[in-house]
Amino acid sequence: MHRNISRSNRRVRQSRKRRKKKIQLFLNFLMLVCIWIVIFCIGVLKERENETDTDAKSFISSIEYAANESTVFNNEQKSFDNESESIDKVSDDFDNGWNLTLVNKWHPLPEKLEIETVELSNGECVDKRIYPYLQKMFDDARAEGIYPIVRSGYRTRTEQEDIYNDRIQGYQADGMSAEEAKTETELWVAVPGTSEHELGLAVDINADKVHSEGAQVYAWLENHAHLYGFINRYPPDKTEITGVANEPWHYRYVGVEAASEIHERGICLEEYLENDGN
Ligand SMILES: [Zn+2]
Repeated sequence: MHRNISRSNRRVRQSRKRRKKKIQLFLNFLMLVCIWIVIFCIGVLKERENETDTDAKSFISSIEYAANESTVFNNEQKSFDNESESIDKVSDDFDNGWNLTLVNKWHPLPEKLEIETVELSNGECVDKRIYPYLQKMFDDARAEGIYPIVRSGYRTRTEQEDIYNDRIQGYQADGMSAEEAKTETELWVAVPGTSEHELGLAVDINADKVHSEGAQVYAWLENHAHLYGFINRYPPDKTEITGVANEPWHYRYVGVEAASEIHERGICLEEYLENDGN
């Protein structure tokens, strides 16, 4: 009996020991799990930090990009400003309106000049804007038995240069010195870059020589051209002001209003622009 008791006591002790061990193992396991969880959490947190960093970085770089973009935009704006400056510069020459642009030996053509021309039936060209007035003037002249033709309209720079050089060579062939030939030429032909023909607003008008003679055409134009916006650009008594000898065939479009006043007052374009405080 006694033996039995001590045996059962031993068993109880053994089972207690085993339980303790189990608990210990479980606690160890629990600790490991806790450590794992902590390590895992730290890992996740670090990853998140990196992500935030990257996000922040890409945000910053997008700001930088935007800044660069705005630099590009500013540059574009600047170049646009420059462009509009040069447009302003050009339009200085058009202050009086495109139809009153002054071109003579002292006022060369504006550098940036875009001309839209229209071709007449004989191949000559004029600025598109003056075409309707020119057509009406010719129609009305014909209705009165006067038959004008456009002998010369718009000229490119090269065409003006050819005319200028040919005239000089012609005078030299007639025995003039180079200097004399140049002086004589410039009485009749504008130095390239200073011709109203390069502006597209001037026309040399002659008679068709079939139904009309030159003098008839010039006389009709003298009395009627202003009604269509054209002026006799180089009157005989204004040579000193215009810098060009009398050319009764050279008509210049300035618009009906200006042409009428110029005609009425017997002045030239230079005087008209000066008197207007322009
Ligand atoms: Zn002319």
